[in-house]
Amino acid sequence: MTNRIGIIGGDGIGPEVINEGLKVINASGVDVETVDYDLGGTRYENDGTVLPDSVLNEWKDLDALYLGAVGTPNVPPGVIERGLLLKMRFELDLYVNLRPFKFDENNIDFQVVRENTEGPYAGEGGFHRYGTPYEIATQGSINTRHGVERAIRFAFNLAMNRKKHLTMVHKTNVMPYAGDLWERTFNEVATEFKEVSTDYNHCDAACIYMVQSPEQYDVIVTDNLFGDILTDLGGAVSGGIGFASSANLNPDRTGPSMFEPVHGSAPDIAGKGIANPVAAILSGAMMLDFLGENDAADRISKACYEINDGITGTSAIGDAIAQNL
Ligand code: ATP
Repeated sequence: MTNRIGIIGGDGIGPEVINEGLKVINASGVDVETVDYDLGGTRYENDGTVLPDSVLNEWKDLDALYLGAVGTPNVPPGVIERGLLLKMRFELDLYVNLRPFKFDENNIDFQVVRENTEGPYAGEGGFHRYGTPYEIATQGSINTRHGVERAIRFAFNLAMNRKKHLTMVHKTNVMPYAGDLWERTFNEVATEFKEVSTDYNHCDAACIYMVQSPEQYDVIVTDNLFGDILTDLGGAVSGGIGFASSANLNPDRTGPSMFEPVHGSAPDIAGKGIANPVAAILSGAMMLDFLGENDAADRISKACYEINDGITGTSAIGDAIAQNL
């Protein structure tokens, strides 16, 4: 069956790395039909639109979305993040952000399940007496039983297919309400997964363990904000930004899931042909895995870790991985 994939190359190095991802997917023999979408900072600068509803509606018929990176230096912070990336997560109900980390040198092989639609990112809050000396800004964290439970349940199921160890990360000591909801939900769902051993770390402690003893982790589940920060650290201790891939999943498959490298559009190196495409290629492998093309996904991931370190240049790396399949 042909998979229909929406392609959002985006800005900067985004289109460069996605080209290599598609090169490798095609070389794997998986049949894909692609539909291109011109979205991101450049489009916003050209016509002032970020994500038209007509595009969102078209996406509902796709199998997946494959995104490079979005954002240009001239667009104010927040416009693309809220208008495109967060809107996608909310509208397509991409409630799990899954980020795998593997780095043999440091005995690292864990995956982070970050709740992707709630927490401080849900947009709750506001200003009062804006711009005055008495200004007040509030920013709440939204945690629903439904949202927390489905992320935790996904993480337990993932752990069942791995080393059967799940760590919840939060700050239950200073965030007693959200923390309590997370803790109770985690403990309740745990009773359904008796084979999975569980652990809990405060987020600050997890930052230390991730550097000092990362081998203790198999699957981590955490909220949107902690997950955002922890996964940048995960990338830093496991081979760097060039290897960090991610999936924004709608596990119920009521719409397409979205796959993207963790890195941004890197305007400083755009157009130079030196961006590392491995993170994008690994994100493509996650996409194939989610679409049921498990053999191709495994072959691509293996090829990414096997290529010679001496190969440099975006397309040379893509070629080497395609040839290694
Ligand atoms: P964003 O907010 O979109 O994440 P950013 O500027 O914070 O953007 P990146 O765009 O990821 O972050 O760039 C951070 C640094 O990492 C830059 O110096 C960039 O050149 C480098 N970088 C990012 N991605 C890659 C890549 N694929 N290959 C090589 N260098 C990269």
